[in-house]
Amino acid sequence: MKLCVIGTGYVGLVSGACFAETGNEVVCVDIDASKIERLRAGEVPIFEPGLEAMIARNVAEKRLFFSSDIAQAVAASEVILVAVGTPARSDGAADLQAVDKVAETVAASVARETVLVMKSTVPVGTNARVRRIVKDAAFPIHVVSNPEFLKEGAALDDFMRPDRILVGGESDDAFARDVMTRLYHPVTLSSERFIFMDPASAELTKYVANTMLAMRISFMNEVAILCEKVGADVHLVRKGVGSDERIGAKFLHAGPGYGGSCFPKDVVALVHTGREHGVELELASATDRVNLRHKGTLARKLKQVHFEGDLRGKRIAIWGLAFKPRTDDVRESPALQLIDALLGEGAEVRAHDPEAMAGVRALYGDRVTLVEDAYDAAIDADALVLVTEWRQYQNPDFSRLKSLLKRPLLVDGRNIWSGYGLRKQGFTYDGIGVRGS
Ligand code: NAD
Repeated sequence: MKLCVIGTGYVGLVSGACFAETGNEVVCVDIDASKIERLRAGEVPIFEPGLEAMIARNVAEKRLFFSSDIAQAVAASEVILVAVGTPARSDGAADLQAVDKVAETVAASVARETVLVMKSTVPVGTNARVRRIVKDAAFPIHVVSNPEFLKEGAALDDFMRPDRILVGGESDDAFARDVMTRLYHPVTLSSERFIFMDPASAELTKYVANTMLAMRISFMNEVAILCEKVGADVHLVRKGVGSDERIGAKFLHAGPGYGGSCFPKDVVALVHTGREHGVELELASATDRVNLRHKGTLARKLKQVHFEGDLRGKRIAIWGLAFKPRTDDVRESPALQLIDALLGEGAEVRAHDPEAMAGVRALYGDRVTLVEDAYDAAIDADALVLVTEWRQYQNPDFSRLKSLLKRPLLVDGRNIWSGYGLRKQGFTYDGIGVRGS
């Protein structure tokens, strides 16, 4: 099929590459002309494992193209996928300006009966809103909600082996259902993974899924703080709780608070949708409140527990800046909150990340020292804080670290190191809710 993917960010670029990989002819378009130029020159603007090779392969085989001419790409396509950003507005609602603009362009440019697939995360009612915008187009446009569930860092795998494909459309729209079935057929061969539903349910499902996951994280982060007070260990509590099949083991790890481009904005947007309809979603509100407070934990621990309330002149090393491993995405990363707090307290920050330093450099310039070798961050530092659990930080050379640090203090924001072993080596070790920390 001939496809056009509008918005070449994390979702659009992965979707475009994967749909090309499964045999379609795909044009990826974006209003950011410089991004398209870079892609045409063979440069991939984001880090996602495996993506660069997949793009190169499909460009070489002439199934994947990049263009800034959105109208032309729309006119040439049977299926148009929308993957533009839907950031939070200041009132918490999802900003739909890009979605509206895209819908208007599509309505003005279609040259055949098409399916318009909404992959962006959009609030309930957006499918109906887009339908209104495109209803007078010269050709029929079938608007389908198809929220995306891929995870940055494992996006290609998630896309090619999805847990489920949600398709929200009108129950009597056989045209759209047929196109969507054919589109996803290659990734749903092994099992029946389609879930068809009405658009509102599909739109809401995405927000509920993200909020549910965020809620588990916030709850365990609160439990971790309680563990510290009562002398329990959140690792053990997590194991004990997660072994209950009704609960399951995933998303129960205590840490520095959730970040990224999805959970923070989606939780708040769900609360906003509730309020618009007179429903106070108190658990979702609390999830957000707890997370905002918890993201201050690392800085609070440093200041209050380890430096007697004064961080002035202290040199703090940070390992990990991306909001999670295997991505370069720093949007809402807990590392940013930590950096802000440290700089605000007069501390000096030296940091390392395998992929996300460019994003941090763009935000902080030379206010943060970024180092190419992770160990260099620790030179003469008063503490090393681990924020993102990249594999290369899991088992470092601790004796080397000890010789580099001015003070042997390790603050482990992801609880990946053994406090017991490290204390035996002469470190002061502090985690999030782990015993004796
Ligand atoms: P992103 O910011 O990485 O990319 C969005 C792209 O859209 C940008 O390249 C931007 O230039 C482009 N764009 C904006 N307005 C445009 C317009 N009018 N016409 C054409 N292009 C335009 O965003 P993302 O992380 O890929 O997320 C996209 C959507 O997918 C969001 O709604 C997000 O909530 C959702 N989502 C994201 C993820 C994820 O892990 N990042 C996962 C699932 C769902």
